[in-house]
Amino acid sequence: MGQHRHMTRYFRPDSSIPMPALLKRFALLYLPIVIVLSITLLSLMRLDEQGRLAEIEESESMRIAVAEALIAQNFSVLSAELRLISSLPGPRRYLDSGDSVQREELEDFFLVLSHGGQYYDQMRYLDASGQEVIRISHNGGKPVIVPREQLQDKSERDYFRDTVNLKQGEIFVSALDLNIEQGRVETPYKPMIRFGTPVFDSAGRKKGVIVLNYYGNTLLRQFREAMQGKDRYRSMLLNSDGYWLSSENREDEWGFMLGKDERTFGHDFPEEWRVISATEQGSLLTERGLFVYATSYPLLSGHHSFAASDMAHAHSQQEAQEHRYYWKIVSFVPRAVLAETAFYRQIGSKILLFFVYLLLALGAWITALATLGSKQAENAFHLIGQKHRLLFESSRDALMIVAPPSWNFTDANQAALQLFGASGLAEFTAHGPSDVLPERQPDGSLSSEKVQEFIAITMREGSHSFECEHQRLDGRPFAADVLLTRMAVGNDTFIQATVRDISERKQLEEELRHQARIDLLTGINNRRHFFELAEQERVRAKRYGVPLPVLMLDVDHFKLVNDTYGHLVGDTVLQKLSEVCTHTLREIDIFGRLGGEEFAILLPETKMERALEVAERLRLAVADATVPIEQGGSVHFTISIGVAMFVATDAKVGDILHRADLALYAAKNGGRNRVCREEAG
Ligand code: GH3
Ligand code: MG
Ligand code: MG
Repeated sequence: MGQHRHMTRYFRPDSSIPMPALLKRFALLYLPIVIVLSITLLSLMRLDEQGRLAEIEESESMRIAVAEALIAQNFSVLSAELRLISSLPGPRRYLDSGDSVQREELEDFFLVLSHGGQYYDQMRYLDASGQEVIRISHNGGKPVIVPREQLQDKSERDYFRDTVNLKQGEIFVSALDLNIEQGRVETPYKPMIRFGTPVFDSAGRKKGVIVLNYYGNTLLRQFREAMQGKDRYRSMLLNSDGYWLSSENREDEWGFMLGKDERTFGHDFPEEWRVISATEQGSLLTERGLFVYATSYPLLSGHHSFAASDMAHAHSQQEAQEHRYYWKIVSFVPRAVLAETAFYRQIGSKILLFFVYLLLALGAWITALATLGSKQAENAFHLIGQKHRLLFESSRDALMIVAPPSWNFTDANQAALQLFGASGLAEFTAHGPSDVLPERQPDGSLSSEKVQEFIAITMREGSHSFECEHQRLDGRPFAADVLLTRMAVGNDTFIQATVRDISERKQLEEELRHQARIDLLTGINNRRHFFELAEQERVRAKRYGVPLPVLMLDVDHFKLVNDTYGHLVGDTVLQKLSEVCTHTLREIDIFGRLGGEEFAILLPETKMERALEVAERLRLAVADATVPIEQGGSVHFTISIGVAMFVATDAKVGDILHRADLALYAAKNGGRNRVCREEAG
């Protein structure tokens, strides 16, 4: 009971787990989770961001395409109208005749056209010298014919000079800029593109030019409507120099007209402008944000632009290549706006993520507690192991562990190493039980078979004890007492062997056994043992029909020796007698002291004649022997011997001895110091 309580105390997991160990375990569990989760989330965020960028790119590209199409459509409609006007029969008639009536008709025609659309700020006919002939002013939606006295000479203006040089059907297109009146930028700003084409009379003579002042606000309004996306996106229309033609920030616009040379996209976004100005279209993600852009080429074939200039006053001398007349359409989504829509930026997502991390931390903490608890239990197990080891090592008995599947030694204490003569544990554990047993046990059984048998019994019954012959690793044998005990730790079952060297005890036992057989004074067989041996010989003689004579000896006048020299000398005489007889007899002869100064001898497989010879030789040898005495001189003594022969009817040793005794009696009566055989018959 007490033992049981003692054991369970060590197996119970300790509830007080040390905090540093717990924290370490928690960190080991939680950190990898956090790292993996964070990496996953980050890559998801990146994917999400890439997805959103792609989405924005796509939607903005669409808007830009629409804006581009609108611009192209405007230009196409304008040039179609211009060509139509220039080729209609009305204007042609006036050009042919120069008639004032025809001129008024043309004025009315222009007026009607101006009413029709809101595209034109002015519609003009200039003669070949550059003098305005007809001018219709849009006048805020109520077109009027400008009085003749207000008509001006425009021969020095580039739009006139460039247009008048064109061939029939060709169209001049000015840059989009602000209208200038009386040499100053008209306010409110009036964005303007001048479309011009030369006109000819029926004879094909160039008579002048028609100039339409295209009202740029219409185009820019359409552009803004097309580009209107999410509020925080910024759409821009830039000319080829990077000046804003349209911007969310209205102060940025028209820098080239207002002498604000630094108000360019290139000034505000130098890196981005390098890319956008050099490539046709695309998207660009920079520190500032996402830029989606395209290049718009509004000129159609037959359109000519000259200045494409930012200097409204300058005369353009050189015709620009068509591709030089272009605008850049840019949609800009600032970084802040990009990030705002991200999943992880939203407060709901932040709370969600916080709870995910918190729950994982909780899980890791609980796991750390649980696993550390069982770890503690494991340590308790270890304690048992250590406790056991202490006992194991301190035991004076040799202790060894044998374990499946090989059942070789897996462990041994110092006493075991010493007992078997192993220099160390490593040497010893290279062996198995068969190596410390002689090949065969004293009973002739094979030791290796015994080992298997003992293991089987121990595993079945829990323990097994026995004595057996062992041997040291050097082959020296010794008797041992063995106790085998089955043990289990966790799932492992093994056997502990306790081996005790019992050689000494065996020797002692053997000595006692010997002493029980031997007469103390003479060292020969005592009466009891003589009778045992004689009985075996009697049985053998009877079975095999071999002769078995027995000699009965008695010291002559021994009483006298005792009386004369003392008891001690008497004893010495008995010892001398035994000594002489032992020397004279064969190994197989059985010699014993029956008591006092009476002795008996069995001579196995010896005939009577031979037995008588032996008796005679014994008698003579004894008679020759002397025992020295203290006072000087020595004692001589003689023996009488009676000889009898075993006969089949002898049921016991006593029967033969009795006959030998009779023969001895005869020898005594015959005068002593002689041999007598039993009476025949
Ligand atoms: P006999 O020739 O007729 O045999 O004469 P004996 O003196 O030997 O006669 P007996 O058998 O009567 O005497 C035996 C004596 O031997 C008696 C006893 O004191 C003595 N004796 C018996 N055992 C021992 C012994 O162990 N030691 C000594 N010293 N004397 C013994
Ligand atoms: Mg006697
Ligand atoms: Mg005697």
